[in-house]
Amino acid sequence: MNIHEFQAKQLFAQFGIPVPKGKEIKNARAAEKWAAALDTSVYVVKAQIHAGGRGKAGGVKITKNKDEVPGLAQELIGKTLVTHQTGPKGRKVRRLLIEEGARIDKELYLSLLVDRDTGCPTFIASTEGGMEIEEVAEKTPEKVIKETIDPAVGFQSYNGRNLAFALGLPSIEKAIVNPFIQMLGNLYRLFLEKDASMVEINPLVITTDKTLIALDGKVSFDDNALFKHPDIQAFRDLHEEDPLEIEAEKHNLNYVKLDGDIGCMVNGAGLAMATMDVIKLAGAEPSNFLDVGGGATKETVAAGFRILLKDKKVKGIFINIFGGIVRCERIAHGVIEASKEVGIKLPVVVRLQGTNAEEGRKLLKESGLKVEVATDLWEAAQQIVAMKGKKKR
Ligand code: GDP
Ligand code: MN
Repeated sequence: MNIHEFQAKQLFAQFGIPVPKGKEIKNARAAEKWAAALDTSVYVVKAQIHAGGRGKAGGVKITKNKDEVPGLAQELIGKTLVTHQTGPKGRKVRRLLIEEGARIDKELYLSLLVDRDTGCPTFIASTEGGMEIEEVAEKTPEKVIKETIDPAVGFQSYNGRNLAFALGLPSIEKAIVNPFIQMLGNLYRLFLEKDASMVEINPLVITTDKTLIALDGKVSFDDNALFKHPDIQAFRDLHEEDPLEIEAEKHNLNYVKLDGDIGCMVNGAGLAMATMDVIKLAGAEPSNFLDVGGGATKETVAAGFRILLKDKKVKGIFINIFGGIVRCERIAHGVIEASKEVGIKLPVVVRLQGTNAEEGRKLLKESGLKVEVATDLWEAAQQIVAMKGKKKR
């Protein structure tokens, strides 16, 4: 799960990581009120969406004139912001963060995540803050500094000194070396205690009066640990999530929306991945990842159908079931009843293998439903790709 910048900054403050004074607001009137309450010479108005690149897309406004704040807020609220991370459709701005501006001397990059290679929490830092870290990594990889933390030992101050020296902080500004190391420790504590999967501060700023401040904040959490953290759950913003993914979650379905036009319903995550691969190999694109799980029932199959059909791009449905724990004849019953209930007019290919597959295929063939029944994965994939779009919804 991702959260907004203002929420990340609330967490940072809780863990002793310095952030600018600010407040989340939803309209221009509140912006005026809050600007009046801030004691500063620079005001920053920031669009709150779950995507970076807002600065370049006009989502961050800076003014020295307090009276301009409500106008800038009015301009941003309700606007659809298109950044390099939102995709062409962009994201609607519903919330803003009004902050006191920082006087920037230097912008750094800092993040903490689990490195897949070492399996350890790893700090990533760079003197090239404010820029896309991917770009820095590509053009000047020597400017990306990593420090791996042994999870059994935890963060130690030598880890902090390693990073501080590799960044050249002592020669940039000696006075911030210790606050920097302390900040890293706090960030590590936040990461562990809140089961984060990634924390990113870009830019982490050294101000003209030599203090450190987190000017931006992005935190992602491990969904499987969210049940432990009601405070983090409360940060969830459904506006930022795909409506189909929200609905799938209600039915305990593992669904990820994609861009193609072949809807797939599969039991097991590995088979679901393989199914997407084979659809691509057959020349089409999957519209989704959907794992209905080991214990698929008529209800799960019906819920899966409904979700696939709500995606207007879908032109054909591919059901790929390997009966291990689940028995194929039960899936067949589920498909038959769910198709009648939901009323499917699209081409459907059902491939059944494993426990009671024969019986399942027979049931489907005799059901009178217009579904193609298959045994072989590759043939089934080619079949659905050939059939897609041949029938109207
Ligand atoms: P992002 O573009 O979505 O990553 O949004 P950021 O929060 O990182 O803001 C983008 C850029 O706006 C930063 O890199 C800064 O250069 C600038 N910026 C943000 N807040 C302030 C501020 O308080 N003072 C000044 N001078 N610049 C700021
Ligand atoms: Mn940023």
